[in-house]
Amino acid sequence: MKLRAFLHRLSPTPAIDVVIDVAQLIRSNLNRRLVMIQAAVAIGGNLGDVPATIAAACEELARHESISDLHCSHLFRSTPMGSAAGDPFWNAACVFATSLDPYVLLAELQRVENSAGRTRAVRWGPRTLDLDLILYGDKIVESETLTVPHPHFWYRRFVLGPLAELIPNVVPPRFSLSILELAARLRQRPFRLQIGGECDIADVRGVVDRFVAEDRSKEIKVELPSRAEPARAASLALWFGDSRQQAPTDDESLLLRCAEYTPQVLTDVLAAAVGKIERT
Ligand code: AMP
Repeated sequence: MKLRAFLHRLSPTPAIDVVIDVAQLIRSNLNRRLVMIQAAVAIGGNLGDVPATIAAACEELARHESISDLHCSHLFRSTPMGSAAGDPFWNAACVFATSLDPYVLLAELQRVENSAGRTRAVRWGPRTLDLDLILYGDKIVESETLTVPHPHFWYRRFVLGPLAELIPNVVPPRFSLSILELAARLRQRPFRLQIGGECDIADVRGVVDRFVAEDRSKEIKVELPSRAEPARAASLALWFGDSRQQAPTDDESLLLRCAEYTPQVLTDVLAAAVGKIERT
C-alpha cells in the first residue's frame, strides 16, 4: 500500500496531505544535499584582461543552481608551458560543491570557457580561459573525453600552488600524498628527475642540460632509477623525487609515462614542474 493511502487510513484529515508534502520536500532536499560532491577546478589564461575573465568565470559558476560554496584562490603568475603558449599565464583554482555529474560539469566548464571567447586553434596556445576539472570528490573517471583526477595536475606547479591554498590536506584518489605535499616535492632543490623508458637517455640528458642552462636556479639532478625499471610501454618515464626516499614503482601515480617522447614534451613537463609561479 502507498504511504499516502496508508497514512490517510490512520488519520483521514486533509492536513495529512500537507504533512506528507512537507516531509517529501525535506527528504528530496536532504537527498540533493547528500549527493553534493566537492569539485576542484584549475583556471588559467594569458589573452586579454585575464583577471577580469577569471573573476567573471568564478561568478558565473557560483551562480549556477547546482553549484554552491564556491571558493577561489588568489591569482598567480606562471611561465607559459609549450613553445606556442605566448605571454606569462595567470593561474588560479576554485573549489565548490556540486550535484552535477562529472560529464555535465565538464560541459558546463567548456560553456564558460566558450563564453569567455575561448578558441582551440593551437594546442597549448595562448588562451583567454582554460578550466580543467582536477578533482571530483574521490571519484576516478577514465574515458575518451574525461580523465579525473586530471592526469597532469600532480607535476604542475601552476595547478598545485593555487589548489594548495584551498584544499592543502586533500589526498587525491590513487595518490598517497596530499596536495600540499605534492606541491612541496616540486620545490625541492636539487630537483631530482629519474629517467627510464626506451628513449635515448643521453638525448634526454641533453634536453635537461639545455633547459637548466637557461636558468641555473632550476638545479635539476638527473638520475637513472636505482631500483625497478619504471618504463613499461613508455618511450619516456619520469619520476620526480628522491630515489633514496621512495623507489619509482612504489607510487605509480607519481610516474609520468609519455607514449611518444619528443624534446618539446620533456621541456614542457620540466617547465610545468620547476617553472616559477608567483602569487599576486
Ligand atoms: P584543453 O583544450 O586543453 O582544455 O583540453 C580539453 C579536452 O580535454 C576536452 O576535449 C576534454 O574532453 C578533455 N579532458 C579530459 N579530461 C579532462 C579534465 N579532467 N578536465 C578538462 N578537460 C578534460
